[in-house]
Amino acid sequence: MAKTEASAAKKGAGKKSGVKLHAVLKWPDPVLAKKGVEVTAFDDRLKTLVDEMFESMYEAQGIGLAAPQIGISERITVIDVSFKKNPKDRLALINPVIIEAEGKQVEEEGCLSLPDIREKVSRAGWVKVKAQDVTGTWFEVEGDELLARALQHEIDHLDGVLFIDRISRLKRELVLRKIKKMQKNGEW
Ligand SMILES: [Zn+2]
Repeated sequence: MAKTEASAAKKGAGKKSGVKLHAVLKWPDPVLAKKGVEVTAFDDRLKTLVDEMFESMYEAQGIGLAAPQIGISERITVIDVSFKKNPKDRLALINPVIIEAEGKQVEEEGCLSLPDIREKVSRAGWVKVKAQDVTGTWFEVEGDELLARALQHEIDHLDGVLFIDRISRLKRELVLRKIKKMQKNGEW
């Protein structure tokens, strides 16, 4: 999920402080529409991948990133709603599942895979999620407002769902038209 501020992110693969950075794939890359497979190996490869996902997310000015967005069709997502300000907001969720949801909020969302597109999306106001950490241990996290939105947005990615799949058909058509125009102008 993109930060609230206008994203002037320059996304690109590369290396920074020894961590490999992954380019974020844009819609309509087919991997974004695929359901991610469950993670079963809690090994060094997973730990490295999670570190790379955090750094790639920060590089792209994001507060949430799901593995399919970097071309890895697995149920892994990282979230940091405070964008490095509060270490306890740094969440790595493996095989996350929403186990409780309540209320409703309608707020603007952006997505690193849909740069410069922002639309109001209706989401649950509060969610409780269970997930595994990089060692495979199950834990629970709950949140409202921005954290609830980020959790729902990122878990959607693991099911091949983007926020533009959750807006009205008319709005979606307008968004697709805008993207087409940007593609034509070489801005996408
Ligand atoms: Zn997204």
